[in-house]
Amino acid sequence: MTKRGIVVAIDGPAGAGKSTVAKAVAKRLRYVHIDTGAMYRALTFKLLQAGVDISVEERVEQAIADYRIDMMAEGDTFRVLVNDEDVTGHLRDAAVTAAVATVSGYRAVRELLFTEQRRLARQGGVVMDGRDIGTVVFPQAEVKIFLTAQLEERARRRQIELADRGILRDRTNIVQEIAARDEADRRRPVSPLVQAPDAVLIDTTALSLDAVIERVLALCQSRMPE
Ligand code: C5P
Repeated sequence: MTKRGIVVAIDGPAGAGKSTVAKAVAKRLRYVHIDTGAMYRALTFKLLQAGVDISVEERVEQAIADYRIDMMAEGDTFRVLVNDEDVTGHLRDAAVTAAVATVSGYRAVRELLFTEQRRLARQGGVVMDGRDIGTVVFPQAEVKIFLTAQLEERARRRQIELADRGILRDRTNIVQEIAARDEADRRRPVSPLVQAPDAVLIDTTALSLDAVIERVLALCQSRMPE
């Protein structure tokens, strides 16, 4: 099979700007961007909607046995469907954000999504962002980035992003929410959030978005086949 290009894995904690950077890099390379956080959020929304008690792993496991997830490209963004229902508009719901780290800690959930993530990137030519892309999903990815920023700065950016969508939130509250999610993601036994030994660390605290994009693009160019 001819490959469409390399695999670029971007991991890191919540609010580090992974999706924004991944989307911009994919656009410049004419690659596909896959936001794996959106996939975990989509399943979480569907479980909450169905009234599943997400604190009980077996209930979640039973429910997702019937779930099928599809990512549909739409211009330079995408829509997420679970069993043909378009749930894109709910991915950032506060209830989903509060519950997603619990759901994503379950092995059955990760296995369902790994299969889909690997299928989507089979031919290469993708920029995939998440928590475990360079460590577990694509340990052989040609480019691995671990994107981070200081917690206060991540919370500041998230506050602005929410305000742009008309949601006014207290900064302290956002700091707590992000810190709790990072802690849950780092501590879980399956696919914890951790930097791959061969990933390049980029701390974006004092960098502009353009500077980060250019650094990632330079790394990608250096790993492209001749
Ligand atoms: O990236 P985003 O903040 O949308 O991710 C939401 C949540 O989905 C994370 O906090 C994490 O619990 C989970 N996630 C994961 N593995 C990934 C991507 C996201 O566990 N590859």
